[in-house]
Amino acid sequence: MHIPSALTEIAPGVNAWLPDFPGTWGMANCVLVSSGSKALLVDTPYTAALTRSLTAAAHRVLPPSAVISTVVNTHANGDHSYGNGLFPDAEIISTEANLDHLCAEPEPEQLHALLDQCQRNDPFQRYMLAHFGRYDYRGLRLTPPTRTFNGRLELEVGSTAVELIEVGPAHTAGDLIVHIPDSGVVCAGDVLFVGDVPVHWAGPLGGVLDACQRILDLAPRVVVPGHGPLVGPAEVGAYMDFIGEIRDRIHALHAEGLETEEAARVLLREHRRTELGLSERLAVLTATEYRHLNQVTDPLELVQVLGAAVRLAPDCVPATVPERPVLLADLGARV
Ligand SMILES: [Zn+2]
Repeated sequence: MHIPSALTEIAPGVNAWLPDFPGTWGMANCVLVSSGSKALLVDTPYTAALTRSLTAAAHRVLPPSAVISTVVNTHANGDHSYGNGLFPDAEIISTEANLDHLCAEPEPEQLHALLDQCQRNDPFQRYMLAHFGRYDYRGLRLTPPTRTFNGRLELEVGSTAVELIEVGPAHTAGDLIVHIPDSGVVCAGDVLFVGDVPVHWAGPLGGVLDACQRILDLAPRVVVPGHGPLVGPAEVGAYMDFIGEIRDRIHALHAEGLETEEAARVLLREHRRTELGLSERLAVLTATEYRHLNQVTDPLELVQVLGAAVRLAPDCVPATVPERPVLLADLGARV
C-alpha cells in the first residue's frame, strides 16, 4: 500500500494522484488538469494531511504562477470532497443533485467523533476502525459546491477543453464524469472501481452500467477510476460484465422470493472473484438493488446497510486494529 509523493503523468497537462491502497475504503484518486497558469483538480482527498500532500505534489508539476482555481467533485462522498475546504478561493463545481445530497454526508468532525466511540470488541465497530480509523478528519468542514449544473457543462482550463457529464444516479444520486477530449482521458469517479468489489449506494446497477457505457462512448484512451489503477476501455467492459452478472443474479433471486439478506448470502457464497478486495460489498450491492426492486424510497441507512454487510461476511473483520488515528504524516512512505 502506498500514498504517492508525486503525480503520475497521464497526458501532457493531465496528472493523476493515485494512492495504491487495494482492499480498503477511502483512498480515492484525484486528477490535475493544467494549462499555462490555470489548473483544475478533479476530487479532493479524505483528510487535510492527504490534501496538503497532493497539493505539494501538484505544485511540483505546475508553473510557479499556477493556481488551482477550480475543483470538481465527481460526487458528494467525503473521500472525494472532504479536502475542498483547503481550496478556499477555488470555484467548486458539481452537479445540482450532488449539492442536494450533501446533507446526507456526515461532517468530518462527526465521523471522527463516531470513530472515537467505536469499541474494539464489537465486530462492526472494529471493521469501521480498521478501514476509517487511519484517517484524521479533524480540522475539516463540509465545503459544498459553489457552482452546480445539470446534464453537461463545458469548461476551459487555459487552452484545454474539459467536459463534465452527469451520469447519476448510479454510485450516488448525482455522479459526474470528467472528459478531457484532447488527451482521451475520462475521470470516472466511483461509477468505476478497479481492484475491489465496487460499492454503489444509489443505483440501480443498470444506472451504473449506463454510466460506464457513457464512458466507453467517449472512446477514451485512459480511464481513471475512483479507486484503483488506471485502466482502458477493455477493463471497463470487463467491469460492466461483472456488474451485469451481479445484477442479473440479484434479479433472479428476487424473482424467487428471497429476502434481501438471503439473497446477499447467496451472492457472497457464489462469489469467485477472490482477487478483488472487499467482497462484503456484495451485500451492499444486493441491498441497493433490492431497494429499487421493492420500490423503497426511504433514505438509505448507510450504517445499517454496511453493518448488515459486515455481519453477513464475518471474515472481513480483522482480529485486531491499530490505535487511531494512524496519522499519515509520513506521506510518500509505504504503510
Ligand atoms: Zn470513493
